[in-house]
Amino acid sequence: MGGLVLRGKSAVVTGSTSGIGLAIARRLAQQGANVVLNGFGEARAIDALRSSISKEFGVLVAYSAADMKKPDDIIEMVALAEREFGALDILVNNAGIQHTAPVHEFPIEAWNDIVKVNLTAAFLAIRAALGGMMRRNWGRIVNIASTHGLVASVEKSAYVAAKHGILGLTKVVALETARTGVTCNAICPGWVLTPLVETQINDLARRESISVESARGQLLGSKQPSMEFVAPEEIGGAVVFLCSDAAVQIRGIALPVDGGWTAQ
Ligand code: NAD
Repeated sequence: MGGLVLRGKSAVVTGSTSGIGLAIARRLAQQGANVVLNGFGEARAIDALRSSISKEFGVLVAYSAADMKKPDDIIEMVALAEREFGALDILVNNAGIQHTAPVHEFPIEAWNDIVKVNLTAAFLAIRAALGGMMRRNWGRIVNIASTHGLVASVEKSAYVAAKHGILGLTKVVALETARTGVTCNAICPGWVLTPLVETQINDLARRESISVESARGQLLGSKQPSMEFVAPEEIGGAVVFLCSDAAVQIRGIALPVDGGWTAQ
């Protein structure tokens, strides 16, 4: 892929103030796309992110404080992109949260929050963005699912259910747009070292009275044959590929980027 493959396009990446979302936003900007950042964080840190991405890649960077638990916020986030950039061409549903507990003890509120942020928010954003994409006959929707969209692990009932759900949603949207220039796909990352996973590593270290280093090894050893974390930038690279013209006939897939996790 030479040149700036996404010059003139505009993107929303949910949950892009941190981790994988931020790396995706940076990769899209690197390819020339204007980007709306979204997610929680301190106003000053978010302003600094906006201006550094904008300066580094020569694109426009906006910010939406939309809370993915709130339907009206999500509709306004899509409207903001259309207002600021004239269109929303690329929607990356990335915001996600985690909570671990055995199913019989799983807090109902945590279940509801995970389903809202990890699944319903994607439905609402797609619902709001699709009309404009269909009118322009160009669009790319990329849902960040997980290996947990394909296989399960203990103590992650809500997360696994929501991630399996988003793969179903991805397929339906892909079928409904199959004869258009809009595509919808999902990416299924394995372990990626981000704040979301750092929390799980620290919990494991505390629970088993082992070092953080051994907890990392244990986490990888139990799931990821490469024994290496996926880099957030590698997920960004996969998103850029799915947004490129070369990927126009890739529709409704769940693409594992997981160091071999789901090959076992
Ligand atoms: P992270 O915790 O580093 O970042 C999550 C982002 O989502 C942050 O920007 C946060 O502010 C935002 N966010 C959280 N709740 C929100 C809400 N209600 N409204 C708006 N924004 C909200 O997490 P991450 O590891 O970068 O995860 C990103 C996505 O990748 C998630 O969907 C996660 O399930 C998925 N994923 C992560 C891994 C991994 O190993 N880290 C593996 C597979 C899938």
